[in-house]
Amino acid sequence: MTLPAAIGFLTAVHRGAGQVPQGTFASLGHRADTRDDIDGDTLFTSLLHTGAPEGARARGRGSALVFAGELYNQGELRSVLPRGTDPADDAGLVLALFDHYDLHAFRLLNGRFAALVHTAGRVVLATDHAGSVPLYLTAAPGRVLAATEAKALRDAPGGRPLAAARPVRRLPGVHQVPAGTVLEIALGTGDCTAHRTWTPQLSRRILPEKEAVEAVRRSLERAVRARTGQETPLVVLSGGIDSSSVAALAALGRGGPIDTVSMGTDDADEFPEARVVADHIGSTHSEITITTAELLRRLPHAVRAAESLDPDIIEYLLPLTALYLRMGGAGRRILTGYGADIPLGGMHREDRLPALDTALSHDMATFDGLNEMSPVLSGVGGHWSTHPYWDREVLDLLVSLEAGLKRRYGQDKWVLRAAMGDLLPAQTVLRPKLGVHEGSGTTSSFSRLLTGAGVGEAGVHHAKRLVVQELFDEVVVAGRDPDEVDTAQTVQLVADRLARSSPVIA
Ligand code: ATP
Ligand code: MG
Repeated sequence: MTLPAAIGFLTAVHRGAGQVPQGTFASLGHRADTRDDIDGDTLFTSLLHTGAPEGARARGRGSALVFAGELYNQGELRSVLPRGTDPADDAGLVLALFDHYDLHAFRLLNGRFAALVHTAGRVVLATDHAGSVPLYLTAAPGRVLAATEAKALRDAPGGRPLAAARPVRRLPGVHQVPAGTVLEIALGTGDCTAHRTWTPQLSRRILPEKEAVEAVRRSLERAVRARTGQETPLVVLSGGIDSSSVAALAALGRGGPIDTVSMGTDDADEFPEARVVADHIGSTHSEITITTAELLRRLPHAVRAAESLDPDIIEYLLPLTALYLRMGGAGRRILTGYGADIPLGGMHREDRLPALDTALSHDMATFDGLNEMSPVLSGVGGHWSTHPYWDREVLDLLVSLEAGLKRRYGQDKWVLRAAMGDLLPAQTVLRPKLGVHEGSGTTSSFSRLLTGAGVGEAGVHHAKRLVVQELFDEVVVAGRDPDEVDTAQTVQLVADRLARSSPVIA
């Protein structure tokens, strides 16, 4: 299990025969195309795979499944299958569960995946609980096209508006399947029904300190173990509590050294803090410095990979995208500490509990569609990333803990810090949060680029949103090569447009 069998797909299901779009992906992978005939329907699949495409497809009697990504609870899933059923891989396992539970099978899965099932005139599209592998579609009577990157559908024949899914900016008829959702489409009519398979916990649990701490440690340990392959895993390490915990648990689980890597820029880095952790856990550690100029040049790549329109999210994702592009080499399995702050309220820097739960509830209600955890971010470098804090069990636990366990004794993310006290140096356990966009100087260097182009301080955030939209239109909607899209030129274009429309704000 170095990498999942497939990291993406483009599928076209037609009543009878039909046209298949070429579809390009930002993720690097081999393409394998197949065509199946199922009861008079045609299922065309183009898999983006890592060497063993058969592990990402499964065929049953009158049904077929395409699966990109991986599962983290195979053991318990296998335990509910009828005796004698022993699927060889995740795709086979999901199809066996589907035979047994129909679309409710997707309520059972803890994983990082996007899937399509074609059976008896129905097309079923499913995302994991977090929608962590984005999934897009266009649908019309007699035809459903689906892909794990929106850009792969940019040449697809237009689909009908769908109330059950989210329209994608400037790609008419293309929609995104919501997180934790199964879309069920009747191929003949194109009628589409959404079934939620997961929703964030709204209630909060009160637990004694010790119990909460032990539960967090146990569930995080399991999530890290489920994500650690046969080969040495690589943890992207900042030296903050989130990634340091993942690295320490990965090393503990393996009982031997793991690899860690830190990125910094000529503006800012967290190298000393990450080094403390690497020394403590005995990892094989490297530091990669990316110039601010290179970092900003990667902005079109980050937008193309994430297919996100949120400027704050793009700022979090840019440093890591730049790192993944620089890493080179064979595809690696990468563990990250990304996402811990959402259920733990880590970005929240004041000592009041109501505000913490307000922020947390808001973030859990609005994460969908931001594509923060898209595997394409590391896929652009040929790697596969995975996020233990957004494991379904870890997330359910962390979200549900009452706020006083997250903010306690003047510390943020207290329950996590307490859970990791025995595995990390005290200075790491106590280290205040520093976001990746701050630690790498990304926010400030992007801001400087805008003010340098004539945007006033007050207009910077709005201008960033416009720059991201502009880049999205270029690299996703128009399908341009990100190396040919110039960040500085785009920034100037936006700055000039702002100056013309509203000289005061600009
Ligand atoms: P903390 O919340 O204490 O800062 P953290 O640094 O692990 O913890 P974030 O700052 O939210 O978490 O960053 C998100 C993730 O991105 C990290 O968990 C880590 O995996 C990765 N990351 C952040 N900064 C770097 C960096 N400089 N080099 C490598 N990976 C990084
Ligand atoms: Mg950090």
